[in-house]
Amino acid sequence: MNHKVFSDEYIEQAHKHTIFNGSEVASSSVCTCFYCGNQFTSADADPSDFWDEGEGKEKTLACPLCGIDAVLGDASGFPVTDASFIEACTTNWFSGYSRISSGLKPEKVDWKHIAVE
Ligand SMILES: [Zn+2]
Repeated sequence: MNHKVFSDEYIEQAHKHTIFNGSEVASSSVCTCFYCGNQFTSADADPSDFWDEGEGKEKTLACPLCGIDAVLGDASGFPVTDASFIEACTTNWFSGYSRISSGLKPEKVDWKHIAVE
């Protein structure tokens, strides 16, 4: 075991950077999705991946592959390319239920959409 230990507070701080992070991901050279492990730049993202989640707030970038809003850019100051950090985040946020935790590679996920009347 050569895992670094990240405190819950630290992970919680990181979580705050996954919402309303439009300008932060735009100025990041790399972004990581903590659900599926996808690493990308905001230039790879489609405008539709940017969600409007709050009136007058910045947009939130969702992962272009899995569509989960668990994306952190390196401009946040967090070690988004550190595998043990990613693992700590995915364990903390998804309680072990993520593509990373399942050992799956990042790939396009087609969620079954539930028809809403
Ligand atoms: Zn993803």
